[in-house]
Amino acid sequence: MDKVMISVRDLVKNYGNFQAVKGISFDVYEGEIFGLLGPNGAGKSTTLEIIETLRPKTSGKIIVDGIDLDAHPNEIKKIIGVQLQSSGFYPGLNLLELVDLFSGLYNRKVNAMELLETVHLKDKAKAKVKELSGGQKQRFSVATTLINNPKIVFLDEPTTGLDPQARRNLWALIKNIRQNGTTVIITTHYMDEAEYLCDRVAIVESGKVVALNTPDKLIDDLVATGFERPKEVKKANLEDVFIHLTGHKLREE
Ligand code: ADP
Repeated sequence: MDKVMISVRDLVKNYGNFQAVKGISFDVYEGEIFGLLGPNGAGKSTTLEIIETLRPKTSGKIIVDGIDLDAHPNEIKKIIGVQLQSSGFYPGLNLLELVDLFSGLYNRKVNAMELLETVHLKDKAKAKVKELSGGQKQRFSVATTLINNPKIVFLDEPTTGLDPQARRNLWALIKNIRQNGTTVIITTHYMDEAEYLCDRVAIVESGKVVALNTPDKLIDDLVATGFERPKEVKKANLEDVFIHLTGHKLREE
């Protein structure tokens, strides 16, 4: 039996009179990449921020690695990695200095160069965040989630705005994080990304989970209803053309 890393039961969040999360329940298993999908305003960020202990809930029960969020939120903070907004990075510091600063805040000893190497940013160790390309910024942001050697990392739309090469590069990085035994929760608006990366996805709509399964099973269930794609499926798509013509190599490195 897979170990449950995150258990969310009957989670409700009210903002004044408005109910943003309407009784959500799901489990995330150890070592999986779990996707939270849904249109803007569905309640994904609210749900994640509550699990991350950054936002109070209205009601419901959350257990993270056996720790009750109501009783020991600080214990949960220690075992999770959360992406920091790049706007919060001190502009005067380079990547090495930032990693050192954050590891100090986490009270952890980290080999900053080794960490930058895992996200292919060793060459940029002395650069400031504003000097990085979009893909490099995202990789650095992912690196900051790993500083406290967490059991779970939360990635909020990590590939938004990236070119296809940088996106694929980040996919490999995320798979690698999971390979090392870390559980990953990710939000994304790209369904191809969710299909490629996620072991299971929950689809959230208006504060409720409307489907939860493996991408494969969800697709099979839809096909079983008689659904068919209106367009003939070709053996390649435009992204294949783009990659074929411009290569897999990362740009702006
Ligand atoms: P998602 O991440 O799926 O886009 P959010 O969790 O950000 O959704 O938002 C869910 C709903 O809650 C939205 O209608 C949003 O406007 C509302 N909301 C989010 N944060 C606040 C807040 N701090 N105060 C009031 N309403 C909020």
